[in-house]
Amino acid sequence: MYLKPSLLYILFACMQYSFAQVEIMVDTNTHIPNTVDSLILNFNETAKDTVLSIPMLPAIQFYTDVWKNENTRSAYLIKKDTTYVLPIENANTGSFVFPCQGKVCSPYGMRSGRMHTGMDIKQNYGDSICAAWNGVVRMARMGYYGYGGIVVIRHDNGLETIYAHLSRISVLPNQKVKAGDLIGKAGRTGRATTEHLHFETRFLYEYFNPKTIIDFESGQLISDTLIVKNGKFYAKQEINKITDEEIIPSSSLTDSLLIQNTVMPADSIATPTTNNDPPKVNSNAIYKPKYHIIKQGDTLYQIAKKHRTSINKLCEINKLKETDILSIGQKIKLP
Ligand SMILES: [Zn+2]
Repeated sequence: MYLKPSLLYILFACMQYSFAQVEIMVDTNTHIPNTVDSLILNFNETAKDTVLSIPMLPAIQFYTDVWKNENTRSAYLIKKDTTYVLPIENANTGSFVFPCQGKVCSPYGMRSGRMHTGMDIKQNYGDSICAAWNGVVRMARMGYYGYGGIVVIRHDNGLETIYAHLSRISVLPNQKVKAGDLIGKAGRTGRATTEHLHFETRFLYEYFNPKTIIDFESGQLISDTLIVKNGKFYAKQEINKITDEEIIPSSSLTDSLLIQNTVMPADSIATPTTNNDPPKVNSNAIYKPKYHIIKQGDTLYQIAKKHRTSINKLCEINKLKETDILSIGQKIKLP
């Protein structure tokens, strides 16, 4: 497909405007900027046709794999030696809207030996589900594993919200949405025994307890800032739980998006990749993938339990199906 330089320029200009406050790697040469070029190469075939209609790619400064429509996760991006200080809301995210009415029927956490990665909110069939903040729909599809009908929205602060078990989806991938916009109808598609919304909050593809930032009784936010340190998630008021001697000075908790990289030297920050591989991270980074080598009698259930994760997560990161047969000596990547 031939992409008109003028349209590319508009996209580029929008991106520059949106992220004027934060550092992103953008080639400012004239002609077609390299970064935009590689952005478009990163889009899948269907997305290529719609990329020019996306007014901005939210939180592009965090997501070095840029933008994928197929899966909830496509790379490991969180750097364990980086402290991320994220405003829950900014001018682009708008104000939080609780995605539906209803009571929590199953909380986040371990549930019969599996990690339950979101909050379940009881719904009636066909109840309206809304976007929690302004953002751009990254995924919208039916029949996605245990999630069934799923919508994933990426927001400008770097968070993603996931809405699952939907009976109908009212948005398309790459569509811009506003907080409170209808995105679908509740149902029990996928692995669900009753009509409910499965709602997740994620940052850089890592899920965290939505209760860290949202009060599910009142439907209100309980923090204006999310802090991600050593891969763990904290509300601003939980800052005293961070045991490291490096306490984040309160003066750094400003409205602007801020990353504090206190350990990693600047030249070891992962550079955006132009293919589908996970980004290459310098070996100085603390995060290194861990593996479990399959022994006789191992099951995904046992491995998940032992490493405090879920079968779903193991399947997702190893591109396995729950029913796949494991072979002795096989390396299973751990989250
Ligand atoms: Zn759920």
